[in-house]
Amino acid sequence: MLFSKALIPTLRETPADAEVISHQLMLRAGMIRKVAAGIYSYLPLAQRVFQKLKTIIREEMNRIDSQEVTLPGVQPAELWQESGRWHFYGKELLRFQDRSERDFCLGPTHEEVITDLVRRNVKSYRHLPLILYQIQTKFRDEIRPRFGVMRAREFVMKDAYSFDRDEAGAEESYHKMYQAYSRIFERCGLDFRAVEADTGAIGGSFSHEFMVLADSGEDIIVYCESCGYAANLEKAEIKPPENSPSPENQKPPDKVSTPGQKTVEEVTGFLGVSPEHLIKTLIFSTDKGPVAALVRGNHEINEIKLKNYVGCEELVLADDSLVEKVTHAPRGFAGPVGLTIPIYADHALKGVVNMVAGGNENDVHFKNVNTPRDYQVTLYADLRKAEVNDPCARCGKPLKMRKGIEVGHIFKLGTKYSETLHATYLDQAGKEKRIVMGCYGIGVGRTIAAAIEQHHDKDGIIFPPTLAPYQALILPVNINEPKVCETAFKIYNALQSDGIEALMDDRDERPGIKFKDADLIGIPLRITLGRRTFEEGKVEIRNRKTGKVDLVNVEETIGYVNDHFFGKPR
Ligand code: ATP
Ligand code: MG
Repeated sequence: MLFSKALIPTLRETPADAEVISHQLMLRAGMIRKVAAGIYSYLPLAQRVFQKLKTIIREEMNRIDSQEVTLPGVQPAELWQESGRWHFYGKELLRFQDRSERDFCLGPTHEEVITDLVRRNVKSYRHLPLILYQIQTKFRDEIRPRFGVMRAREFVMKDAYSFDRDEAGAEESYHKMYQAYSRIFERCGLDFRAVEADTGAIGGSFSHEFMVLADSGEDIIVYCESCGYAANLEKAEIKPPENSPSPENQKPPDKVSTPGQKTVEEVTGFLGVSPEHLIKTLIFSTDKGPVAALVRGNHEINEIKLKNYVGCEELVLADDSLVEKVTHAPRGFAGPVGLTIPIYADHALKGVVNMVAGGNENDVHFKNVNTPRDYQVTLYADLRKAEVNDPCARCGKPLKMRKGIEVGHIFKLGTKYSETLHATYLDQAGKEKRIVMGCYGIGVGRTIAAAIEQHHDKDGIIFPPTLAPYQALILPVNINEPKVCETAFKIYNALQSDGIEALMDDRDERPGIKFKDADLIGIPLRITLGRRTFEEGKVEIRNRKTGKVDLVNVEETIGYVNDHFFGKPR
């Protein structure tokens, strides 16, 4: 491609509304342009990078016998009503009507459509297992689209769905997909971790998120260097402490007046105790009725863990009226003493004595609260968010944390959709059975943004060779120098006919501009033709990543480039 003909509108200035580096660089390198909040156009350079990633994904999907399909972006409400998600999905699902006033939505994911396809066309055990995938545009009306294509509203996803005869088969498909995802992200040159994620009602360790390590990430990865355990913050398990009750030290309960003291800071400050001596009591509303959750004042509740122990579908912090109904006091004075709803307590509260807790009465707290003397716990469980140095649930060694970007997610669905949508098959004995499913997603744009987060410097993008839009950039310093121009075209043509993707900067621009653009768009090799080219017959080949420069005879350029990409001259 000739730069003079290419649509690569690079920018000098950093766009003001771009917070993270990948967003800034994708705008500056002329890869993307915003059309509306979270909605982008992808320009030729981005298109080439996307194509590279899609090819890697296709190769790895095909390798595990996953077959490509294309499902519609516009989906009828009936299917979503059948699965129950029309009601549950909330505002991320963009709904609209056609001219006949029939309800539709823009697909944020495709479980319904694909399960419908399979239930109509797969009837026998002979056709299972089956894995189908597509690379397709999704729409999610994200509440806060940000970071460019990393959290967009319209974005490209590779989604795959597996259909198996039984649990064992589904686990095998899951495992295959895990391996395929690992290969995809390795081939992209990414530093990533597969971390355990919450599975809700399904249980087991059959959900992993693939996280690219980056400080700009919105997710937190909790990991143990000692045993290799890694999970996201929602899931990260903590080893229960081994403290034992010491009944002899129990002091009599003491009701104290705490006027207007509601928060942990206020109460502990007022009473002169440290937060770990306070029981934080949180009331939640669930579809199974209200529950109380207790954690130490210095700990944070993990609602996902709580939800799993309660075994409910929905769980939200109670509003003021429910708090008052349950505790007979305004918010800020809830405590476990006298509560008649189920009480879930974090392991860290087991065996502790003489705690401060809310008095379930306005402006009142209790000191020296002890269990089981003053209140009974329904269940002790791991209910809190992990923190740095908490003991690993597997080996007890201190946990560490890092930030990450979720680029992929694999999930064993079980029979969730085959139940609601009645996707069954006939087994060998002619008996009707439910198909066991899995779903698997990769954010294509998000993966590219994550690659840029990991591979850049102050001058611009440094594309991993497998994702680079072009392999070599030819840069004649002065295109008006006939000999330089002629040699540059010779190299350009030779590279192209050898299958190397080359971009030739034939623009009549100042060298400074050309060099800056070259660094910005991050092509792995830059072949510079200057004075030396006609004086000594040499070109300068610079490695964008290492900055290493080699002087190479003009005739040896092709061999050098091939050697760099393919390990040997072709
Ligand atoms: P997140 O928690 O980041 O919103 P998610 O759990 O909603 O992600 P999935 O439904 O598992 O994501 O979708 C699969 C993949 O699609 C994600 O791993 C991510 O790479 C990508 N993805 C999800 N939402 C977006 C988005 N708004 N913009 C770009 N990519 C996205
Ligand atoms: Mg999401």
